[in-house]
This record gives sequence, C-alpha cells and structure tokens, in this order.
Amino acid sequence: QNKQPSDSPLQHVIYYFNRAADLLKLDDSWRAMLTQCKRSLEVSIPTRMDDGTIRTFIGYRVQHDNTCGPFKGGIRYHPDVNLDEIKALAMLMTWKCAVVNIPFGGAKGGVVCDPKTMSPGEVERLTRRFTTEIMPIIGPEYDIPAPDVNTNEQVMAWIMDTYSMNVGYRVWSVVTGKPVGLGGSLGRREATSRGCAFAIIKAAEKLSINLKDAKIVVQGYGNVGYHLADIMHRAGARIIAVSDSRGAIYNKNGLQPRAVLLHKQETGSVVGFSQADVITNEELLTLKCDVLVPSALGGAITREIAENVQAKIVAEGANAPTTPDADEVLFRRGVLVIPDILANAGGVTVSYFEWVQGLQSFFWSEEEVNRNLENIIKSAFESVFNKAQEMNVDMRTAAYLIAVEKVTEGTHTLGIYP
Ligand code: NAD
Repeated sequence: QNKQPSDSPLQHVIYYFNRAADLLKLDDSWRAMLTQCKRSLEVSIPTRMDDGTIRTFIGYRVQHDNTCGPFKGGIRYHPDVNLDEIKALAMLMTWKCAVVNIPFGGAKGGVVCDPKTMSPGEVERLTRRFTTEIMPIIGPEYDIPAPDVNTNEQVMAWIMDTYSMNVGYRVWSVVTGKPVGLGGSLGRREATSRGCAFAIIKAAEKLSINLKDAKIVVQGYGNVGYHLADIMHRAGARIIAVSDSRGAIYNKNGLQPRAVLLHKQETGSVVGFSQADVITNEELLTLKCDVLVPSALGGAITREIAENVQAKIVAEGANAPTTPDADEVLFRRGVLVIPDILANAGGVTVSYFEWVQGLQSFFWSEEEVNRNLENIIKSAFESVFNKAQEMNVDMRTAAYLIAVEKVTEGTHTLGIYP
C-alpha cells in the first residue's frame, strides 16, 4: 500500500510516482527500476578561503534516468543540501522533462555550503574544484548542469570555463543558464517564471478568473519569484505579498516588483520596503488571493497551512513546495494545484533551447524563444488538464501519469541491457 511518507523529499517524490504507478498498474520490478537513481556521486571539495585556511565542502551529482535523452538538472548551493534531497530533485527532473516532452533525462547537483557568507573568489574556487570533481560524469552529450538555488549565470560561466580548460577547447553546451554573451540564450533568465506565468494563464482560463487585477502572492524573491512577480505585474495582476528567507511584506493595493527588487538588492531583503506591512511567512501563504506561487524551497506548504490556504490556484514555481499530506488537503478543498513538474518546467525548456542553440552555434531571437516556450507549456498544461479530467485525478497525478508512462514505454522499448 502507498503510505504517506514522513519528511524525506525522496520518499515524497516516490509517493507521487507510486500514485501514478498504481493507476498504470506497474509491477514492483518496474517501480524498483524507475525509483532508483542510475548514479550518485559524492565528492569532497577542498577550497582555499580568503584567510588562507582550507575548508572541505561536500558536493553531489545524481543522475536519475536518461531514457529520453541526456541527464539534465540544476546545481544548488545551500547549507541544507543532502543526498536524499538531491536524489528527489533528480527524479523530479526526469518527470518534468517527460511532461513537457523535451528530450532530456533527470539529474541534480548540490554543494553543502552557504554562499551568502563566502566571497566571490571563494565561490569561484569552490565551483571550479567541484566541476573538476564531477567532470567524469558530466558533458554536453551526457549530463548538462544548470542554475538552481543560489547559483547563477556567473557560476555557470565558471563551470563551462573549468570544463573547457580541462578538455582543452571551449565547450558551450556543457551547461545552460550561461550569460547571454557567453553562449547563453535570450529569455533563459526569466524562463522558469515565464513558463509558470503561461501555466497560470491557462489555469485562470479554466477557472474563469480574470487575471487583470487578480491578486497574486509570491513566496521567495529570487530568480523564479522576482521574475514571476514582474511578469504577472506587467500582465495587469496585483502582487499583494512577497517574501524571502528573512520575512514577508504585504500591500493590498499591490507592490511594484522592480522597486521591491531594488530594495532587496540594497538591503539584502524585501523586508523593510517602505510601501508595505510586514507579515509572517505563514500569514503570506494563507492570504486571500487568486494565485499563490511558492517559489522558495521544498516543503513550504504543510498540512496545517494547506487547511488555511485561500488561493484558488497554487502554481508551484519551486520544486516540491507542497508535502503529500498538504497536497491531498488542497485537492479536497478544491484548490487547483499546478504541480512543480509542469509549473516550473519553463526553465529546463529554455535550457533545452540554449543547448540546441549552442550545439548549432545559431542563436534565436527572444521572441522565438518565448513563442516556443509558450507553445510547449500551454500544450503540456492542456494535456495534463485533460488527463486529470479523463482519469478523475488531481493535476499532479495526471502529470505523473503522462511522465511515468512516457519513460516506462521508452525503457520497455529499449529493453534491459544486456
Ligand atoms: P534563488 O536562490 O534565486 O531564490 C530563492 C529565494 O527563496 C530567495 O529569495 C530566498 O531568500 C527565498 N527563501 C529561502 N527560504 C525561504 C523561506 N523559508 N521563506 C521565504 N523565502 C525563502 O532560487 P531560484 O532559482 O529562484 O529557485 C527557487 C525555487 O525554484 C527552488 O525550489 C528551485 O529548485 C526552483 N526552480 C528553479 C529554477 C530556475 O531556473 N532557477 C527552475 C525550476 C525550479
């Protein structure tokens, strides 16, 4: 029986997988195969700090499945990174790529560190040593990292440069999320948020919600959260509350996302922004609004919070922000949840465009990137929504059904080697 897991992110993803596997009537041998990661690498990263001391960090690269294409997934720098979580995120990437039907498998990486307390030079040395340590298992045709929490275009440029220095020639396509001047794609920086916005537009259509003046709440004000707020604000919605790791702010008349960003860049937090009241993170998640977009870390929406969520739509900008018991509560209460593997798939979709452009050395206009992204996300949303109706299940189970079926069929056709 598929029991609800406790607090392991990996068990959460396996739980969701099993809900789909039950409906697909997959037997135990297939479940065992598809819920194991193909390879997990743990490396030690001795790093010279600015004061001359040496600190040894721990890093991971986990590859879940490459049935549908090369491994693909971000690299996260955070003090809470651990192998269980990286495996969960690698597996999510497999299902995410399958749901939007792009030819990649799933991987993830991370380093246990707190880059906010490190100098740029220390982060660069850590990144270059980590890259060298995971070099045996990454490559443009094999496993292609990308940005995630606390990593950015600069970190991707260092990874690309280190890989290139080691092989002796420039290899653009070994990472995505690079600066535009160094083989990056136009539109990549905003891609996760733009994809999430397209999914929100589709969900609002289904629920007959007019997004002009709709109230949006965003948890997390990093790459995903800020750009989502900015895109929705430009589309006419009202961003009534946002938060970061230090706290949350609220203004019922709507915040100016750009002004909030400038305040965060100056002071290190959204908190203290003059035209807003300070609220708690829990108050933010349970505010009355049309759309709630968790865009911070995993496990933000617990069962208790889910009971009090007042949003009509929850769009999971973050990976795994809703615990399985909370997910059931939201479904029972009639909240439309756009699951992470669909809602934040815009990032990997434009990473795919960047990889293709790099391999061809032929770069697209931003309009072309955004148009292709819109087609992919909107059509994936439609497939998931229709599947949910047809099978009478929630959107997450429907997304997993599509993804797991695709990967299972591929694995079945390839057969078991040897
Ligand atoms: P980021 O580091 O740019 O931003 C993370 C933000 O979350 C920061 O503002 C941080 O202060 C905030 N935060 C951390 N803990 C918080 C808490 N307890 N309460 C409120 N805010 C908190 O990271 P990102 O790239 O924007 O990623 C955010 C999420 O989106 C992650 O779950 C990531 O896996 C997922 N995601 C990112 C991408 C991408 O392209 N960057 C793609 C898909 C999914």
